[in-house]
Parts: sequence; structure tokens; C-alpha cells
Amino acid sequence: MMRTKKLPQILSIFVLIIISILIASNIFLLATLKKKTVPVVTKVSNALTPAQIAEHAKPAPTSLPTPIPSPKPLTFADLNSLYGPCVNLPVLFYHHIQNMDVAKAAGQQNLTVATDIFIQQMQYLKDHGYITLSTNSLTDFFDKSTPVPSGGVILTFDDGYEDFYVNAVPILRQLGFKAVMSLPTGLVGNPGYMTWDELSQAATTGVEIVNHTWSHANLSTNDTGLVQREVVTADGQLTQRGYNSNKAFVYPYGGYNDYAISFLQGKGYTMAFTTVSGSTLCKKLRYTLPRIRIGNASLSAYGF
Ligand SMILES: [Zn+2]
Repeated sequence: MMRTKKLPQILSIFVLIIISILIASNIFLLATLKKKTVPVVTKVSNALTPAQIAEHAKPAPTSLPTPIPSPKPLTFADLNSLYGPCVNLPVLFYHHIQNMDVAKAAGQQNLTVATDIFIQQMQYLKDHGYITLSTNSLTDFFDKSTPVPSGGVILTFDDGYEDFYVNAVPILRQLGFKAVMSLPTGLVGNPGYMTWDELSQAATTGVEIVNHTWSHANLSTNDTGLVQREVVTADGQLTQRGYNSNKAFVYPYGGYNDYAISFLQGKGYTMAFTTVSGSTLCKKLRYTLPRIRIGNASLSAYGF
């Protein structure tokens, strides 16, 4: 009797224990799930969005100048097989060399390298063993397969500005550097431009003077008469003064077309430079040679 009376009591205690165990295990399970869930959620919220991944995948910004994008960037090997023989010869180009406050007053900041920075750049070339060349090194490479000295660079200065004579020639002379002046002959002697006498003095210190048209005309024109007049007038004025022996040409505004190229070729020009960025110079592209525009930064920023 005692047993039968106690049985439901034992059973209810047993059921209670089972329920307690179930509740406890559920609480434990929930706690475990919560513990496990939390880090997962955190991870999801920390995950990069596709835009962020793309942002991270971008190359780190550098101080290198942005090259003008070409439709299909070719390697040296590509260029050499298509247009070779090619040589890696940086042709630097400058316009005004003057103090920045002077440049700002004249609205010439964009075409100016400050004199003190220019001096540092030239000293940098000297310290790193670069050799300044004249354009005939390139003609000899194209026509006689004469190797271009390693560490060779060509320094070009466009437009014949007076500040080149005042601020750049002294440092070039001091370092024994050669340079190329691309000269619109019709602008000689105008305010802000060099005189023929100053050009003559620059020439004696290793400045080669080359054709940059007569009036700084853009040769990417259908006016063939204009192309002829501009090239021939400057050619005559330079030749008359004993310059232009290697017949190198620099396109004003970098502008050219097929007619301009064939006309220059017909007049005995051995090469022509554009404003397209690059340092691989190829024989079959000798009338559209690239240059490197230099601004107010250390030359190390340009890969030197
Ligand atoms: Zn120019």
C-alpha cells in the first residue's frame, strides 16, 4: 500500500527532475548558441563589401606622374618586336624655369619648374651618374646601331624662354650638362623670350637648338601650306646660324599628322618628339617619340 501510494510521488519527482534537466539543458544550449552566434554576427558585420574589396585591391597611390593612357599599353619587348630597334632613353621636357612667385604672377605655374627644384633635379642626375646626351646619340642608334650609353638622358626645354637662359643655363654649365632647346624661331627676341645672342651663348655651353616651327604652330592641321611654311622658315633660320645640324624636331602642343611626318622626313629630319609620355624610343616611331614631362617633384618620383 505504501509502495503504491509513494509511486506517483516518485514519478512526479522523476518527471520534475526530467523537466529540470530539459530546462537546464535548453538554457545551456541557448547560451552556447548565443555564444557561438555572436562571433559569427560580428564577423559578418566586419566582412568587406565588394566595393571595399575593390578599394583594397587598388594599388597603393604613389607620387609617380600619371602616364597618358594609351589604348593598349605595350611592354618594351612588344614595342621592340613591332617598331624596333628600341632603346630606353628618357627625354625630359621642361618649359619655364623660374621662381614660383614669379610664375604665379605671370600665370605660368603649370609650365614652371621652380629654379631651386630644378637645381635639385639636375644635381640628382649628376649624383646618380646620369649622362646628358644630344639628339645625335639617338640618330646614331637608329641609323648606325651605335649603342646609347647606359644612364643616358636627353634634357629638352621648349619655346625659348628668357628664364631658361637666366635660371637653367648657369646650372647646366656648372654641371657640364648638355641640353636641347626646341625653338619657335619667330618668337626669338620677343619680351620673355631669348635673343639670338643669348641663344648663341647657350649653344657654346652645350645647348643644341632644334626646330619647334616658326610661330609655335600646331602641325595637326589640314593646311599643308602652313606646315610647309612653319617648318621651312624655322629650318632656314636655324641652318643659317649653324644650328640644326642633326635636324631634330619638336611638335608644338605635341600636334602632328601623317602629312607633317612625311614633310619632316622629306626635309631630312631624323626624328620628332611629341608630348606623349614614355621613355621607350623606337626606330619605326622616330617621328612620334615620347618624352617625360617634369614637374615640381624629385626626379625619384619619375622613376629616376
Ligand atoms: Zn612649345
